[in-house]
Amino acid sequence: MRGLMSNKNLLISSLIEHSSEYHGSTEIAHRLSNGKIEKTNYAETNIRTKKLAKSLTNIGVNIGDTLGTIAWSNIRHLELYYGISGIGAVCHTINPRLFKEQLIFIINDARDKLLFVDLDFLELISDITNNINCVEKIIFLCNQEELPKQHNIKQDLIAYEDLLNQSGTPIDEWPDFDESTASSLCYTSGTTGNPKGVLYSHRSTMIHTLAAANPDALNISSTDVIMPIAPMFHANAWGIPYIANMVGAKLVLPGRHLDGKSVYDILHQEKVTFTAAVPTIWLMLFDYLDKTKKKIEFLQRCVIGGSACPKFMIEEFHKKYNVEVIHAWGMTETSPLGTVNRPLHKHLSFSQEKKYDLATKQGRPIYGVKIKITNDNGDLLPHDGKAFGNLWVKGPWICSGYLNVSHSDTHDNNGWFLTGDVASIDEDGFMLITDRVKDVIKSGGEWISSIQVENIAVGHEKILEAAVIGAKHKKWDERPLLLVVKGENIEKSEIFDFLENKIAKWWMPDDIVFIEKLPHTATGKIRKVELKKKYENYLINLHTKSDES
Ligand code: AMP
Repeated sequence: MRGLMSNKNLLISSLIEHSSEYHGSTEIAHRLSNGKIEKTNYAETNIRTKKLAKSLTNIGVNIGDTLGTIAWSNIRHLELYYGISGIGAVCHTINPRLFKEQLIFIINDARDKLLFVDLDFLELISDITNNINCVEKIIFLCNQEELPKQHNIKQDLIAYEDLLNQSGTPIDEWPDFDESTASSLCYTSGTTGNPKGVLYSHRSTMIHTLAAANPDALNISSTDVIMPIAPMFHANAWGIPYIANMVGAKLVLPGRHLDGKSVYDILHQEKVTFTAAVPTIWLMLFDYLDKTKKKIEFLQRCVIGGSACPKFMIEEFHKKYNVEVIHAWGMTETSPLGTVNRPLHKHLSFSQEKKYDLATKQGRPIYGVKIKITNDNGDLLPHDGKAFGNLWVKGPWICSGYLNVSHSDTHDNNGWFLTGDVASIDEDGFMLITDRVKDVIKSGGEWISSIQVENIAVGHEKILEAAVIGAKHKKWDERPLLLVVKGENIEKSEIFDFLENKIAKWWMPDDIVFIEKLPHTATGKIRKVELKKKYENYLINLHTKSDES
């Protein structure tokens, strides 16, 4: 017997419809590249988005067409999120920090018909225009007067505001279609090989949105002022622009500048209560706050993910600024939320120190997600908080394959996706990531967690950033080598002393190298492949030299 409930499709357009109807006057603040903050609200944004939808239909965009965006987190990008997906086309958010060859590859692979581009990327587009063969028009996110006059772009150029106004009036109703229709597309950052396309659907996005806002997930409500710092080109800004519309919270889009001062200014001016970003953003903010002695006033919760959040960051946010860190784990392939660290009832009576320790874990699966760990033979490993192995994930917003890839080695027949992360899971389901599989250090057959050593090292007040890699070793195959970016002058011996008793003796790095800065990927992770290439023979060379002398 079938239930007698409305079978309404779960469509992304319903989010903006809801926010405009029930939170119409709620503000959206957005910062332009020149630093100016402008304001609009959900009702106005809905009207502009519906105009965009009509114009796109008028110029021949059809359901299933893929339209690319190369833009910061700004209001026009938000309109594109809803305007493109709302008519059944696919909003392909492109990470401008990828290498040019990767950009060319993904635009052609996705077969983007139109590209919507922030003016800041004029040079970038000019460099790749001759190598992209599917794009018919480039729409710059600007007014007619701002449109570049001199350029070498071979595609037709249109100003976004002209396109938007072409239709004159908004569409009457958002179209209805199957909720499994593709809605948006994001390529993985591809540290090795070409990036791979992850194609989200309306259904997956909507269920993710419903699950992610909950108190035991990101805990967002209409009383919040939320600012995703995770860019709109990285896994849909972690789903936050969708959640904002669902709960009707004031939304703040920070735009291009994300250095410590810029982040502080907008947090402060817009009285942001909730934000989300990778750890490097917070290192820059802490540095700014230390130098200026300023205080964070309004922020209550801060989601940290994308890379492991070090314990010192959780402590500093809490002790100095009274901000609660919510440590979360996810991937482009997981929409992105997989696990979130929220305490259980029994943890409420923990000492503060034990609470900090717990918070360094990446958390438990939110409703809808399942996780498991296996050894290299595929055997299940126990959830005892000790055993660690390959992490798999499954659920309605986890990808089941990649765009234009007929066979994926990382998907099995039962819906499990092999993440490439190494983790342990404890009895309560709290997961701890120890490494990416390719970054694991194997010393004498035993694994050393580079992430754990790094996180302790960055807790030293004179260290800005740290990376641990496995360097080749004659006797042990690999030994940890610590690469450090100094904040202040510091001797190696101080760092060794600091690490002592905080890590197992045999995890102690064989040496420390001071470097100017660490290379980062397009999504803010340390580019370990590059470091490994440069430093993998460091210890061998060192020992050879000392043998000779
Ligand atoms: P991306 O698809 O670019 O978002 O990268 C996903 C990868 O980022 C994951 O597979 C992890 O390796 C890493 N990652 C994300 N969140 C965390 C976290 N909280 N701790 C450690 N690594 C993380």
